[in-house]
Amino acid sequence: MKTSLLFPMPCAACGYNICYDELPFCSECLSDLQRLLTARCRVCHNPPSACVCPENKELRFAFFYNGFYARRLIYANKKKPDPRLTDFWAELAVRASGVKPKNYDAVAFVPRLRRNKRKYGCDQAELFAKSLSKLYGIPIIYALERIGGSEQKLLSRAERYKNMVGRFKLREDFPKGMNYNKILLVDDVCTTGATINACAGILRGSVARGVVPFVLAKTD
Ligand SMILES: [Zn+2]
Ligand SMILES: [Zn+2]
Repeated sequence: MKTSLLFPMPCAACGYNICYDELPFCSECLSDLQRLLTARCRVCHNPPSACVCPENKELRFAFFYNGFYARRLIYANKKKPDPRLTDFWAELAVRASGVKPKNYDAVAFVPRLRRNKRKYGCDQAELFAKSLSKLYGIPIIYALERIGGSEQKLLSRAERYKNMVGRFKLREDFPKGMNYNKILLVDDVCTTGATINACAGILRGSVARGVVPFVLAKTD
């Protein structure tokens, strides 16, 4: 018997309805998720795993982040991380994006601003990387560090790129001489790709021959 029948948990997204099976969402939120997962690119009309738009070509992602439902499902995740969610998202992201975990010899993540990590009590990208590492046996590496920088949210596209220049570096304590064939570089959500591409560039220039940026959701 499933223990969740005896101890029904509130839905991780709406926090209101009850989930009666192993999934972290209620049936209403699951149908929102279904809608997200079946949404196609508004420009090329392909599903996320086959989007050929130039800005998404390098990026692997599970779904388009577009509005209310995406916000509710993911913000629940961001503000008060529910341990049920991190593995769920990691597995879903791999399945929906077509990423093949066995092709990577390490998983790295885009580190949060320290004050955000304090504010939310966690680093969502790090949790995503940890789940991928645990579920698929890819070693996690702590390669990147943030050197300040302002919040991206309120900036224009051009400003975001400028804001990212010199905002990350390889960690001082990262073992010298390490060389990876292919690193999976993860973040939770990505808007223009400025942040994750800046980080990918640093890894490519130092410890990796190939880096594939991978996020749960990409803004439409
Ligand atoms: Zn719900
Ligand atoms: Zn597209």
